[in-house]
Amino acid sequence: MTAVSVISGAASGIGRAAAVRLAARGDQVVIGSFPGDPHDPEETLAGVEKAGGTGLIAELDVSETASAQAFVAAALEAFGRVDHVIANAGILRRAAFDGMTDDQWDEVLQVDLHGVMRLARAATPHLGEGGSIVAISSIAGGVYGWAEHAHYATAKAGVLGLIRSLAVELGPRGIRANAIVPGLIETPQSLDAANSLGPEGLRRAGATIPCGRVGRPEEIAGVIEFLSSAAASYVSGQAITVDGALTVA
Ligand code: NAD
Repeated sequence: MTAVSVISGAASGIGRAAAVRLAARGDQVVIGSFPGDPHDPEETLAGVEKAGGTGLIAELDVSETASAQAFVAAALEAFGRVDHVIANAGILRRAAFDGMTDDQWDEVLQVDLHGVMRLARAATPHLGEGGSIVAISSIAGGVYGWAEHAHYATAKAGVLGLIRSLAVELGPRGIRANAIVPGLIETPQSLDAANSLGPEGLRRAGATIPCGRVGRPEEIAGVIEFLSSAAASYVSGQAITVDGALTVA
């Protein structure tokens, strides 16, 4: 039986790399496309097809429950099942904590935490034995404090608690839930100097990381593939850090 993987935020970065990787192993992939994203989901689909896979582009705004439900419905209509949920969508909005508005706080929480919950909640009734959820957290939600990103750090820490609870609640149904905790990965998000490090900041930071560089989206996609595979059939409720040893140095 061909597995079906649904991926939020798959028009760019880690989500795009995950779509291509999962397609290459034979999954049918549903490419979540956020309407406001300047990146082209067709490029992800082209990568999926080049890898020999089958994909579908479907609109998804994880800040809306109805959108998450429609996204899962589109996957079911096209492919008849959902096996793996890759809750990857996320935003960064730099804001000093002094004076951060409720709207700024809510915008990040709505996508980075509640968005993971909404996609998982829409999909879990359809997951069966062997199904899995992989959510993308961040070292900012683990052990790494990040100034001017209190909302992001709070959301990403929340993802870790959510995943542990889902692992316990869904385990008896044969469904696993895990999180990945990336360090610095070169993607549109981290290349955005207004909200993150930008190209020069990434280059400088890379030189201080024990592995000698920042990570590539494909290096997160490889762990997504593992966690959503039978090779990880007894791994659940875990948070796997993928940061080139940044946080243990
Ligand atoms: P990215 O900006 O390329 O990807 C984020 C994706 O989320 C985009 O495709 C965007 O369209 C989508 N998105 C934004 N708002 C959305 C919404 N409301 N609904 C649905 N989709 C939405 O950056 P990325 O680095 O590939 O980010 C992927 C994930 O990895 C994010 O959760 C991010 O926080 C996390 N992460 C990234 C890094 C890094 O260094 N790049 C580090 C740790 C964690």
